[in-house]
Amino acid sequence: MTDITADAQTPAGGAAERNPAAPGGARTVASAVTPAVVARLARGVTATSDAEPAHTVAPLTGERLATLPQSGPEDVELAFRLARRAQTAWAALPVRRRAAVLLRFHDLMLRRQDEVLDLIQAETGKARLHAFEEVMAVAMAARHYGVKGASYLRDRRRGGALPVLTSTVEARRPKGVIGQISPWNYPFELSVGDALPAFLAGNAVVNKPDTQTALTALWARELLVEAGLPADLWQIVLGDGPVVGPAVVDRADYVAFTGSTRTGREVAQRAAARLVGASLELGGKNAMLVLADADLDRAAEGAVRACFSSAGQLCISIERLFVHRSVADEFLARFAARTGALRLGGGLAYGADMGSLVSERQLETVTRHVEEAVKAGATVVTGGRARPDLGPLFYEPTVLDGVTPEMAVCAEETFGPVVSVYRFDTEDEAVAAANSTPYGLNSSVWTKDLRRGRAVAARLHTGTVNVNEAYAAAYGSVSSPMGGMGDSGLGRRHGAEGILRYTEAQTIATQRLLPIGPSLGMDDERFAAVFTAGLKAMRAFRLK
Ligand code: NAD
Repeated sequence: MTDITADAQTPAGGAAERNPAAPGGARTVASAVTPAVVARLARGVTATSDAEPAHTVAPLTGERLATLPQSGPEDVELAFRLARRAQTAWAALPVRRRAAVLLRFHDLMLRRQDEVLDLIQAETGKARLHAFEEVMAVAMAARHYGVKGASYLRDRRRGGALPVLTSTVEARRPKGVIGQISPWNYPFELSVGDALPAFLAGNAVVNKPDTQTALTALWARELLVEAGLPADLWQIVLGDGPVVGPAVVDRADYVAFTGSTRTGREVAQRAAARLVGASLELGGKNAMLVLADADLDRAAEGAVRACFSSAGQLCISIERLFVHRSVADEFLARFAARTGALRLGGGLAYGADMGSLVSERQLETVTRHVEEAVKAGATVVTGGRARPDLGPLFYEPTVLDGVTPEMAVCAEETFGPVVSVYRFDTEDEAVAAANSTPYGLNSSVWTKDLRRGRAVAARLHTGTVNVNEAYAAAYGSVSSPMGGMGDSGLGRRHGAEGILRYTEAQTIATQRLLPIGPSLGMDDERFAAVFTAGLKAMRAFRLK
């Protein structure tokens, strides 16, 4: 692979220049992800059928990356059988033994991160810095649940039905086998990151990653097994989403789905028909608000991270930028200059600011959203072009102005490096505009007045809000829940909710001395009178 690191287009619209100073290009996808590596990892797929294998392509080069076995319906069945068998023994272990596996995984993964960074880049085309975000996120989740997980799961003494006579404990039991379906955009974090709390809670997992990014999930599984996870506890099945996905949902004791809102609805309906719970981490059309008193340099820098990390193929990235009219021109100039200076690159090394899109489908959506908007009157402030000179799926980081509600880019998730800028006069107007989509995943507010920032945050209808940061502050706060309101999903990852979703609450109440009913020769009427007196006494002594 040649060095394909280059500047993004300048705001003036001139041709991008090569950036020979930027590193990258020395190591290639082909030399990092060899056939031997692929063959080793592919052994981790539960696939015994003679289904046609699937081929994946490296987005950075368009060259074939891997040939992977596909799982038939009998393989999904087998995966659940093996997982179920392994789960019983795993759940019987003390929590600290399970936690030790997560903590060993954390250390091993940090030591061997280069292996997974190569795989993530090879499979997704993202820049190495953005691949590293996944390493950060997984490390934080592993440490958090490894250290704090046991306290989320421990038995809790609760007030009994009758003081003294009833002692009650709330316990948490594993669901059993979790069906986990994950997308291609954050393949490390959204496979193992979400599986770790499930394992800690005593579950097994049958995971269906996207085939395009299966090597990353398979590597994570291999490493977790090296850290001490029983091999059968994490099954990975591969295949067509609409075929293998429903087969997983139909057998799972709980479903953890991450992907588009459209597929999430189907998954939810299918799980509901079986009365099985589901958490759904879905799409977004996230907004950033730059208030009049914001530090414009910090906000412009933050907007670059917010909009172009992983080439905008990030569920919590910002696609709508609302700027107070009094600072809009100044902000836009600074933001556009930084965006135009981003270095696009496809080397397996740090140095590029943005990589490529993942697939033709993504490139087609991004191109269509921008072209339609421009045709309808929007202006390209910077970017706005595919860059086949850099690789088959590169697209420039793009800022649009003059976007109006009838344009697809205004309300639909583009899931690419495209952001539209809107001006506002009052805070109420900005909040109403930010809340005007059915989504509710993430948002970002920039102001020097932190109290005001938090007050605006409270009015935004999103599961996470970052004040003076793009998304990493909330996402990285792994002891707090993360997820979407409205069409962005149901349930949360991270924090207590991120692990308790994988458990059933069980109340165990032990009654002593007297039953809760007529006894000691008391008739029903007498019992009712005594109990009524008891309830009044409990109220008087504030016992209940
Ligand atoms: P997608 O819905 O097309 O696919 C997600 C997964 O579901 C894949 O593994 C796919 O094979 C599988 N699938 C497809 N059809 C299925 C069906 N009928 N039943 C069960 N499974 C099925 O999504 P995508 O394009 O891979 O991912 C991008 C989307 O994911 C974006 O909308 C993005 O916002 C969202 N996302 C959300 C979060 C979050 O945390 N909220 C995180 C990452 C991505």
